[in-house]
Amino acid sequence: MIPAAIVPPLLAWYETEQRDLPWRHTRDPYRIWVSEIMLQQTRVEAVRGYYARFMEALPDVRALADAEEQTCLKLWEGLGYYSRVRNLHRAAKVICTEYGGVLPGVYAELLRLPGIGDYTAGAVASIAFGERVPAVDGNVLRVVTRLTEDFRPITDPSVKADLREQTAAIVPEGHAGTFNQAMMEIGATVCVPNGAPHCGGCPLAHLCTAFHRGTASALPVKSTKKPRRIEPRTVFLLSCEGRTALRKRPTKGLLAGLWELPSTDGALSPAQAREQLAAWGLNAGQLLSLRPAKHIFTHIEWHMTGYYAECTAPAKGFTWAAPGQLRDEYALPSAFRPFLEVLG
Ligand code: SF4
Repeated sequence: MIPAAIVPPLLAWYETEQRDLPWRHTRDPYRIWVSEIMLQQTRVEAVRGYYARFMEALPDVRALADAEEQTCLKLWEGLGYYSRVRNLHRAAKVICTEYGGVLPGVYAELLRLPGIGDYTAGAVASIAFGERVPAVDGNVLRVVTRLTEDFRPITDPSVKADLREQTAAIVPEGHAGTFNQAMMEIGATVCVPNGAPHCGGCPLAHLCTAFHRGTASALPVKSTKKPRRIEPRTVFLLSCEGRTALRKRPTKGLLAGLWELPSTDGALSPAQAREQLAAWGLNAGQLLSLRPAKHIFTHIEWHMTGYYAECTAPAKGFTWAAPGQLRDEYALPSAFRPFLEVLG
């Protein structure tokens, strides 16, 4: 079991050592919710700028609910995992229609909203509303498995549920939000992943079994992941009268419904690329090869071949975006960024 004795030194450490992060200056449930969603799978430093821009454009639940989906996607452009912002948008609408525009202040109610899982519900309920519930993310799982030298795989849902229960048992009354943030913070800055944790500076070292037995770097245990599938693709940067061709991706699957540079499966040779352009009804002058690029998604890797072509007329079936629109209006996933850089 996780020793409850970790609570006082953890809270004392957090009070003096926590990083100064914009979302820690507020108890506004909306701001805390948005920050927690942005921070999923994303580094704190990457989130700072996005958070500031998002809050400036959409300062409250109602503003988010009333915004166009395209505006939300543009604010999220480059942050990845776009279902997060789509769910934020959907949840804001539900909050406006069912909760009068105010986030429900109870863990169980938060859990019913789109895109809010166990971790986010726990974080928002405890930090914004003081509810005594845990918020167990990857950082916290790492800390608790090391504290208790637990070699069970954290990828197993029943192990995760047990660790959550153990954490729930030591959440202190009246300090739930601070405790949860402190656990995440120590996991992010001291009990770090990928290599040796900084046990020398850890306020919990005297209570940590893995530290005493020298096994911290071997924890947590994760069951081996399947290797990512490699998908070769060909991406076209097509220009016509100063505009660039865009297309909407299918509504299901990877990057569903987002704008893209026209692309096809496979690594096409220049001759095959010309055939593809003809099949799209495009007449192009010179076809230039672009530097190949790679993009890594969670389960898939795109290995991309790129071509630039100047088209003689803007064929139907594409949206031809002017440079300003490309910059301000259309949100393109960062997978296409290496090719867009050609445009400057
Ligand atoms: Fe993690 Fe080391 Fe602290 Fe244990 S002593 S919680 S392994 S940083």
